[in-house]
Amino acid sequence: MSIREVRVYEVPLETRSSYTMSNSTVATPVSTVVEVVDADGTIGYGEVCMASPQFQPAHNNGIRASLSILAPAILGIDPLKLTVINAAMNTAMTGHTEGKAALDIACWDLIGKKLDRSVVDLLGGALSDTILTYHVVGIGTPEQAASDTAALLEAGHTRIQLKTGGRHISEDIACIQAVAEALKPDTDLAVDTNRGWSAAEAIQVSNACADVRMSLEQPCATEQELHQVKAQCSHPIVVDESSTDIRAVARMISSGLADGFGLKLSRLGGLTTMRSVRDLCMAARVPMSTDDAWGGDIIAAACVALGATLDPQFSRGAWIAHPYHQQHYDEVNGPRIENGLVTLPTGGPGLGLVFEDGCFGTPQAVYR
Ligand SMILES: [Mg+2]
Repeated sequence: MSIREVRVYEVPLETRSSYTMSNSTVATPVSTVVEVVDADGTIGYGEVCMASPQFQPAHNNGIRASLSILAPAILGIDPLKLTVINAAMNTAMTGHTEGKAALDIACWDLIGKKLDRSVVDLLGGALSDTILTYHVVGIGTPEQAASDTAALLEAGHTRIQLKTGGRHISEDIACIQAVAEALKPDTDLAVDTNRGWSAAEAIQVSNACADVRMSLEQPCATEQELHQVKAQCSHPIVVDESSTDIRAVARMISSGLADGFGLKLSRLGGLTTMRSVRDLCMAARVPMSTDDAWGGDIIAAACVALGATLDPQFSRGAWIAHPYHQQHYDEVNGPRIENGLVTLPTGGPGLGLVFEDGCFGTPQAVYR
């Protein structure tokens, strides 16, 4: 096996229902799909897509620019040698984990196809065939948040993530209390502020909602602020945006800061790194999710594949963007949500997806 060619595609994902966070609204992100082609023509697919320029440091145009350096660095390497592939990318370029993630995921898909095994099996095997997911309730009025939550619970969801921040905390407190009224006993509520509060605001919200069973997901921007909040509130702290690499995850487990993680494949650099982070979190018995910021069937299948290998007791679920853009690259096998669960794609080896020739249009760039 030897990587002969890398093709890069731009795929706009028009958002068909509203997705709002403390600092941004998602419009039409342009996803980056990569094809990593083996010497015999077998193709592995990878994908990354940032939600909005305000949400994370990376940008979709920047990801494609980074691939002009990263893709040539892996040409000629055996895709099975993931350590060598990742070392070549890290030698070629510091940071830019998003472009690295796209290529790394494509190599996992390619290896699966060459060995006739699923990526789930390559990751160690599924501990569950259906993967828990969670659904977001965006920034809105208390009435809207409560009615959206009730509809989601009716549709079978057991995990709700309520977005907060970017307005006076009295409005956030009213929303949390309205949503809490709608919850069932088995509902897991994460209040996700996407870094939007100061430490003082987070502590005030926690105190005002002391009787609500919820976790606070990334209430503030910095690890130091999260420590301040942790010291002064009783709600569990879930770390998302601050979990930038495996060292940060290890540090926040050992310091006792993180009661859970929201982990993104693109931020960590792909499935190879996420496999290590998964093993660390599972060994430490700290729940984690396997998400990405946005994207279509390919990144969704990668998130779900890793999600299937989590000990269900310590899984916070795998989030996929499909409900918001309702676009499938593979109409038959593309991951979709039913009763709050996602089923693993079964279209074949690798990520389990099958694509028509030319499905992604003309390549934006080809490296060979
Ligand atoms: Mg989050």
